[in-house]
Amino acid sequence: MSHMAPCRCQSDVTVRLADLDLRELLEFDPQGGRMKFAGQRALLLDAVALGLLRTELIATLGLTAARSILSRFGYAHGWRTAESIRRELPWEEEAEWRRAGGRLHTLQGLVRVEPVPPHAGDAPFAEALLLDSYEAEQHLLHLGRADQPVCWTLVSFAAGYMSYANGREIVCREVSCVGRGDAVCRLEGRFKEPGHAEVMPYEQGPLDASLEKVAESLKAAERTLVQQQRRLWRASGADEDGEVARSEPMRRALDLARRVAGVDSTVLVTGESGVGKERVASLVHRHSTRASGPYVTVDCGAVTETLLESELFGHARGAFTGATADRVGLFEAAHKGTLFLDEVGEMSLGMQAKLLRAIQELEVRRVGESSTRKVDVRVVAATNRDLGAEVEAGRFRKDLYYRLKVVEVRVPPLRERPEDILPLARALLAGLGKRLGKRVTGLSPRAADQLQRHLWPGNVRELENALERAAAICMGPRIELADLPEEIRTLDGPPRRGAGDKRLADVEREAILAALAAHDGNQARTAAALGIGTATLYRKLKEYRKGGAKS
Ligand code: ZN
Repeated sequence: MSHMAPCRCQSDVTVRLADLDLRELLEFDPQGGRMKFAGQRALLLDAVALGLLRTELIATLGLTAARSILSRFGYAHGWRTAESIRRELPWEEEAEWRRAGGRLHTLQGLVRVEPVPPHAGDAPFAEALLLDSYEAEQHLLHLGRADQPVCWTLVSFAAGYMSYANGREIVCREVSCVGRGDAVCRLEGRFKEPGHAEVMPYEQGPLDASLEKVAESLKAAERTLVQQQRRLWRASGADEDGEVARSEPMRRALDLARRVAGVDSTVLVTGESGVGKERVASLVHRHSTRASGPYVTVDCGAVTETLLESELFGHARGAFTGATADRVGLFEAAHKGTLFLDEVGEMSLGMQAKLLRAIQELEVRRVGESSTRKVDVRVVAATNRDLGAEVEAGRFRKDLYYRLKVVEVRVPPLRERPEDILPLARALLAGLGKRLGKRVTGLSPRAADQLQRHLWPGNVRELENALERAAAICMGPRIELADLPEEIRTLDGPPRRGAGDKRLADVEREAILAALAAHDGNQARTAAALGIGTATLYRKLKEYRKGGAKS
């Protein structure tokens, strides 16, 4: 015999309810390790830890959801205890294990159950006092006196045990509770009568209902935030997406982005450095059917080729030095969402081949693995390079180029949208003031003129940097001419307002023709995909055919 405490369940002596003894039911090694109660693995848990769990559940999910979760736990515990006690112990009399629930609960140390002897009147099926309830004790300790009974797990244990033992649902209730300030915790159990409509906290329904409420209030809070954000944007002259687009070229670029967002095709965002290509990419995601899915971005120019491959596709443990664990790649992380590949023109030819394969097959192979995994990802790419010229020069794969530019959105440089400079500057200042903790309300007329004289080769990013510097050094609430960087301050010539939008028409034309090609020349589907009427599409195609002879 080892130093395991003896257990009756291993002998052939039968047991009786009155003789149940903790020393015989509990098997444990004095040196620790697995411990069993009536043949099932059992745990010694600190009561205070359970009390803290209760407190946190109430704080995060509210009282109803917390009560549901703990009640379902108690019910399962009771049901399981009944099941194992029946199977594991050789009962002398079948009827006895059915009545053993309270005794077992007492032996497990959670409570001392004292049955109330049968009495006259509307006597319930089962009636007991719950003495020394750990639950009432913990509730009072962490949360103070409640306005309702609190022995949720204990009452549900009784319901679970008795429901299993009697082969029909027994509804248990705590009619008085120390946690509520009553003198004693008292439990009543009755058969669930047909037509009993009340839903008990240990049933799934209340939990679902209260979690639904939690989810709803989270969504409502999110909606409020979005509305507040929109009000802020409108106040600073931006549209509902936070974009400033008074100028025709920018408005048309954003319109195109919003329209193609609804189709799942690949989008290529082009434009000079600093024009805000990543903002357009994120707008495409937010307006797409994948908006609730992940939006994952990667700067292809910022990492080495080997690193980029494992970033994009993931790797298996041991695939290379330093790969100490399996890693999910960004393609997999963007499943059901959008993957934004910034600076895609910086990719090596080798990586381009792998990217093309992933986009075409919609499957990826982690570095160091032989099998592939399916992914459902929409790719948006951006570059400041002229990819057409890169293809000519042999630095970019032609097939990948055509794959990426199914729809191309060209974001115009700031010099092509001079009427956006001032509204953009004001919107940026509003954000900067907040960030710098400084009240900057606007621009002096001379500073405003000067901003419009500059050509902004660094585009929106340059404007933002100039304003940040100015906002940091300005003395009053306004940005003065003297606060602007020298190269801007000293420019002369007339301020520029308004500009041609010749290239945007080309952009639109390219986008329409590309979409048409993607839909195999089907005009109805192309129009639906672009969100324009078929008549409009027909008219534009006619214009292109007329103009086509010229180009
Ligand atoms: Zn109680």
